[in-house]
Amino acid sequence: MLNEKILKLSLTRLFRNGVNKNVIQNLYKFLFSNDAQDLFNLKTHELQQALNISRNEFLDLIIKANRENLFRISWLVFCPDCNALIKKSHSTEIFNENFFCDYCQNNFEIYIDENLKALAGLHPEVFENDDSYKTQLFKPMSSLQYINGYEIISRPIYGSILEDFQNPLSIKNITLLFIVIEFEDEVGIKSKERILFSEFKRHLNQLNEIITEFEGSFVNILGNKLLATFTSPVNALTSAIAIKQKLQNNKILVKIGLNCGSIYIYNYIENSGYFGSTLEFASKIMQYSDESTISASQSIIENQNVLSFLHNNDLSYSLQEKIKNAPENKNQVYSIFV
Ligand SMILES: [Zn+2]
Repeated sequence: MLNEKILKLSLTRLFRNGVNKNVIQNLYKFLFSNDAQDLFNLKTHELQQALNISRNEFLDLIIKANRENLFRISWLVFCPDCNALIKKSHSTEIFNENFFCDYCQNNFEIYIDENLKALAGLHPEVFENDDSYKTQLFKPMSSLQYINGYEIISRPIYGSILEDFQNPLSIKNITLLFIVIEFEDEVGIKSKERILFSEFKRHLNQLNEIITEFEGSFVNILGNKLLATFTSPVNALTSAIAIKQKLQNNKILVKIGLNCGSIYIYNYIENSGYFGSTLEFASKIMQYSDESTISASQSIIENQNVLSFLHNNDLSYSLQEKIKNAPENKNQVYSIFV
């Protein structure tokens, strides 16, 4: 049984936190149309469908509901070699721990996109009693609907939590899209910078829309540069092409670099949040992009899905440059003609 009074209070707080009224009504309906014992670990696919919202909106809802004690996020750490569940916790403290797998006799660390998963459940406070919780404990692990740890942690509204951590978190495999927008005008350098920034801001909404449409996350803006991340290299490329087509004209030059690899992440608030050689390389190769090309690293070009995408869309590419002082196997910059 759910405690209707506590539930309604939490939903009201969610509404004050900017969650759409229809979404809240649909959430209420969903919670009452399911057995209470199924709500300790929410069927997140069904829930997202019932709420009829995008993935990012859904993730933000989970984060907000977690803050209001309506949901509770559980973090699970798996062994990267044998996939055994090593630890489960409600605290983000575990992000920075080192782990040992008894089966493999191996030490390992967390990659937030690989061996860290999240479960969202209704907070125990919302239940009338904990009988349903006891039933739930015996559910098979395979029936649970996990959320990739990175999906939650990379949401900007979650970022402030990372402030408490001294060690950066590791991401194993992510695609970075680095953009710089350059404007042509005839005014002096000083006012040029000011115009550049206001022009850039004018396009931010449009950029955000395109990136979100292809399931990317808008990460950071530094002057006229912008960084977004994608879990799928093809989505990053599709998004890059859409950005070129929408924004570039004879006054605006949009340079884009794409790279994928591992990266570190920490504290969004005071620092840039993401760092590491994968980011530096993305920024470096971006400079080779011109009016008709997007620059991509070898790791992008070698991706099977990217190759099929290029083939299916009649897009050609060629080796543009070999970057000095970069590791031999990832020093090549390709131009994709768009
Ligand atoms: Zn293991």
